[in-house]
Amino acid sequence: MAIAKHLSEEGLQIVVLEKEKRSGESTSSRNSGVIHAGMYYPENSLKAKLCVEGNNLLYHYARKKNIPHKKIGKYIVSTNESEEKKLIQIYENGKKNSVDLEIISKTDLKEKLPYLSAVSGIFSPNTGIIDVPELIKSLEFDIWQNDGLISFNTKCLKVKKNCNDFEIYCDSSEKFKIKSKLLINASGLQSYETSKNFSFLPKELLHPLYYAKGHYFKYTGQHPFTNLVYPINSESSLGIHVGFDMSGQLRFGPDLVWVKDLDYKFEINAKERFIKSIKAYWPDLDSDKLNEDYVGIRPKIQNKSENMRDFSIIGPKDHSLEGFVNLQGIESPGVTSSLAIAKFVSNLLL
Ligand SMILES: Cc1cc2nc3c(=O)[nH]c(=O)nc-3n(C[C@H](O)[C@H](O)[C@H](O)COP(=O)(O)OP(=O)(O)OC[C@H]3O[C@@H](n4cnc5c(N)ncnc54)[C@H](O)[C@@H]3O)c2cc1C
Repeated sequence: MAIAKHLSEEGLQIVVLEKEKRSGESTSSRNSGVIHAGMYYPENSLKAKLCVEGNNLLYHYARKKNIPHKKIGKYIVSTNESEEKKLIQIYENGKKNSVDLEIISKTDLKEKLPYLSAVSGIFSPNTGIIDVPELIKSLEFDIWQNDGLISFNTKCLKVKKNCNDFEIYCDSSEKFKIKSKLLINASGLQSYETSKNFSFLPKELLHPLYYAKGHYFKYTGQHPFTNLVYPINSESSLGIHVGFDMSGQLRFGPDLVWVKDLDYKFEINAKERFIKSIKAYWPDLDSDKLNEDYVGIRPKIQNKSENMRDFSIIGPKDHSLEGFVNLQGIESPGVTSSLAIAKFVSNLLL
């Protein structure tokens, strides 16, 4: 939606094909809603660059459009001596990415967050939360304002290329074909399935997708949290952290479970995992107040045993086809980066 909004502002006639009856029904409505600052991603990676730029753009856009958001800041805490080394690495990496970060000593941490079991921490003042459904509504509105069209219940089945145009075969209540000079595939969890049916695209440029499920639990009782609190991350996930929705409802998540299918059911042993993980930094957790909330699935281009991979955004320089951009692996920080991704894609195309 962010790409469509950006290109519609460049004066292009935009058609968004969306197979569901509403926008954002998939990953975009099943995430933490955190505006990330960009400390985790390798220097010069797309994730680092687009997250840092996107953070700024998103706060600016949210202010301009009155989209509910709060810059509440985030603590990352280490719970034992062995995690401290990792914490310093995150701090140093963040500095390389020009992220504003403060080291919080054990004494300061005890004073500011006495309820946490933590030995050291860093604070990120520019991390915040945003109402993602409202963000999507605003992007839609901008597209419509610029005479763009969003065609719901419309699936892209396949695409062929003739000398001048892309021929896009669609399935709505009936099947039809549209022609376009430009084509962007940003179909999230289906990005591999969708682009496998582009006759002109060499298969070696595509990434098979791996799904990593993340559960969320909400906490229904009193609690002391006013900021986001994250444990030390792993290679594939930022960890089961403290988060909020815009009404202030506290929730924990996501965990990470590799799955074969796109199903949003809760796993039976998820709650035990959450209790163990949360108690490591918040020993006062009352587990009776932890209730199932929702599940999201990450569209990963790396498998379980591989290291973190960058966003894959390939344009004419990569595949020698004018007018086409393919996006894959748009996992976190995809919401934060969305407006910067839109600018990046526009530069590849125009
Ligand atoms: C558990 C979890 C937590 C996350 N937390 C955060 C966070 O705190 N902050 C952050 O910045 N990011 C976060 N993310 C990442 C973020 O949610 C995603 O990067 C972002 O939502 C991806 O948006 P998208 O538009 O690429 O994909 P999607 O939202 O999945 O949209 C793709 C759309 O394409 C449609 N589609 C698919 N195939 C077709 C087809 N053939 N024809 C027509 N339509 C099709 C789908 O219906 C879907 O609506 C998180 C992700 C997960 C899973």
